[in-house]
Amino acid sequence: MKKQPRVLIVEDEPAIAELIAVNLRHNGFLPVWVEDGVAAQRELDTLLPDVILLDWMLPGQSGLALARTWRADERIKGIPILMLTARGDEPDKVAGLNAGADDYITKPFSTQELLARIRAVLRRRAPEQVNDSVTIGALALDAATHRVSWRGHAVRLGPTEFKLLTYLMKHPERVHSRSHLLDKVWGDHVFIEERTVDVHVKRLRESLGAAGAMIETVRGAGYRLTAHAPAVAGAAA
Ligand code: CA
Repeated sequence: MKKQPRVLIVEDEPAIAELIAVNLRHNGFLPVWVEDGVAAQRELDTLLPDVILLDWMLPGQSGLALARTWRADERIKGIPILMLTARGDEPDKVAGLNAGADDYITKPFSTQELLARIRAVLRRRAPEQVNDSVTIGALALDAATHRVSWRGHAVRLGPTEFKLLTYLMKHPERVHSRSHLLDKVWGDHVFIEERTVDVHVKRLRESLGAAGAMIETVRGAGYRLTAHAPAVAGAAA
């Protein structure tokens, strides 16, 4: 029997949670609903879901604070987080992504949009083909084991950052526009804004530390991963 993806819904409004749960169940998912961060943490301590739907406004800790906590947790950080927010304005969306969410969806949303977003984050999390490894300079990535290392030291990345780095490393020394990256890395990008790419590139650079300089911003064009970044070459000397 095919495994049903487990979706943890952290939402304090029963009507919304119920609607989401019913739709997920009808579409082959296994929804688990909790009303706040405390219950969510209890659930995460017991069994990790495949994806977390996290409401922004919650009693107690906000969704934003929870996303930050979970992204810093080695055990939980690989689980994609989809933020649910009633606020549609850009600064808040970016704040959500900066806190560690992989994507966000603005209420009210359609079932189709929600399912598309969930499937997209799950796809991004799915491992690439076996024996897929690539090394550029001192940066090594193994898609089969989901491991990244820089000068032999392990680098921890979130699921979207991993996928983004995989694409950039497989197509190095070439400039990729934001819309091209959305297409190749996010796949289903009808609902995603180009700004999202910038947020994830920033996060990827931060996680990579010194190797982050290998990802160059090409003004007005996009991003490029290069083995010849001055900062990296200098550090190696
Ligand atoms: Ca709420």
